[in-house]
Amino acid sequence: MENTLLKLTDENYFSQEANRQYMEVSQFKGFLPQYGGCEAKQMAILNGTYKQKDSTPLLVGSYVHSHFEGALDRFKGEHPEIFTKAGSLKSQYQQANEMINCLETDESFKRVYTGDKEKIFTFDLFGAPWKIKVDCLNLKDGYFVDLKTTRDFQKVWNEELHRKVSFAEAWGYLVQIAVYKKGIELATNTKDIDGFIAAVTKQSPPDKAILYFTPEDYEIGFQEVEENIQHVLDVKNGNVAPERCEHCDYCRATKQLDKAVHYTEL
Ligand SMILES: [Zn+2]
Repeated sequence: MENTLLKLTDENYFSQEANRQYMEVSQFKGFLPQYGGCEAKQMAILNGTYKQKDSTPLLVGSYVHSHFEGALDRFKGEHPEIFTKAGSLKSQYQQANEMINCLETDESFKRVYTGDKEKIFTFDLFGAPWKIKVDCLNLKDGYFVDLKTTRDFQKVWNEELHRKVSFAEAWGYLVQIAVYKKGIELATNTKDIDGFIAAVTKQSPPDKAILYFTPEDYEIGFQEVEENIQHVLDVKNGNVAPERCEHCDYCRATKQLDKAVHYTEL
């Protein structure tokens, strides 16, 4: 199997074939209900029978990312929907420019956010090939930075934990930072790589922060993968039928009223 894996490039990294062959942090989270994931939806996306529409919050994030990888002009060309009929940027993307400016004018951010941009790595972990794309990698100084856009820095209620958690925990960034650290260390044969998140909010004016993580934080993220990966792979490989969550956009779009439910079930 190993030698038949697709060699990943900037062009095919996000392709359906690449997603089928490799596990990836966002794909993994797409299987987990605690991150708004749904097995049935994730499988339909992987099989190409369902395409998720680019939402505006997602596009704002991509817009900001494109700037920092030096590809904003290409992004604008590929996304005419970010312009008004009169040809000016829609307000959300003017706001994105404000977010970019907020980071670009910060000397500490600029000093930290130096290194290779959008670097692709593949590696084996928990019995599956994984792929990652690192926003900014500074191997010389032993760290990587992931850029995140978020609505604000308010804590979010977590039903499972019965407490409010930071946005980083709520969105599964501990999983990402743990897998990226391990993956970079495996792929580059290095040790003690540190991960940072550079976060900027969609507020006006934007807020910003650089987040660091302790060994315990990486452990929490890593354990979450360890506990769920086998089931996720079983579903992905077709050995276990995917469960429908019955709430997400995919489940609503494909719902059949095949039985009545008791009113308390809703
Ligand atoms: Zn669903």
